[in-house]
Amino acid sequence: MLTRRQSLLLATFWSAAPAYAFDLNKALGAAKGAAAAASLSDADVQAHSRQMAAHMDGQARIAPDGSPYARRLAALTASARDDKGLALNYKVYQTRDVNAFALADGSIRLYSGLMDLMTDDEIRYVIGHEIGHVHSGHSRKRLQVALSTGALRDAAGAAGGTAAALSQSQLGELVTQVVRAQHSQSNENEADDYAMGFLSRRGHDRKAAVSALEKLDKLSGGRDSSWLSTHPAPKDRAQRMRQQLA
Ligand SMILES: [Zn+2]
Repeated sequence: MLTRRQSLLLATFWSAAPAYAFDLNKALGAAKGAAAAASLSDADVQAHSRQMAAHMDGQARIAPDGSPYARRLAALTASARDDKGLALNYKVYQTRDVNAFALADGSIRLYSGLMDLMTDDEIRYVIGHEIGHVHSGHSRKRLQVALSTGALRDAAGAAGGTAAALSQSQLGELVTQVVRAQHSQSNENEADDYAMGFLSRRGHDRKAAVSALEKLDKLSGGRDSSWLSTHPAPKDRAQRMRQQLA
């Protein structure tokens, strides 16, 4: 037999049940997604990154093999086919946009607008910087956060933590959160420091980091510079790089 107090508690629980039941399902989904993201394996990171690269490649106008952009990039990256155990693959997206990104699977994409603006060594600095985001774990961290929040949480939960094929709209959301979101200043500094090491290890001119950032700082008005929306404060960063050279 229930005591009067117990039956009161039951009554309270039941009367509130419809609202709680709805929230409970969401909460369970969130917990499942969050757990899946927290346990993201290296293989999952690789698989999701490959999927994001394929998704973005599918939407881009890629400079064909043998084109001037593709030939230039192939030449300037001939001695950078891998970096600290990460096999690198490169493509040029033909767009006026000044941008570049790297994904954790070693996919590096340079936008032709950025290549038009920069010398070979400046492009190498950008590549080193983007790889720095991967090696410093920024890309992985973003992936984890993206998979534990919003619409992607349910996808991660449903996939049970394994990298099941995501829909195109889910991949679009992932790209927005992993590739298009702005990095913090401390992440930027870490990636810049990595780029300096990248350049010196390979015998390239580290001053290219300063001149590349100065060019980005001067960009204004007419030209799309989405790199500036994802990589903040080039002026301060150029100054910081200059001090490292001194
Ligand atoms: Zn950056």
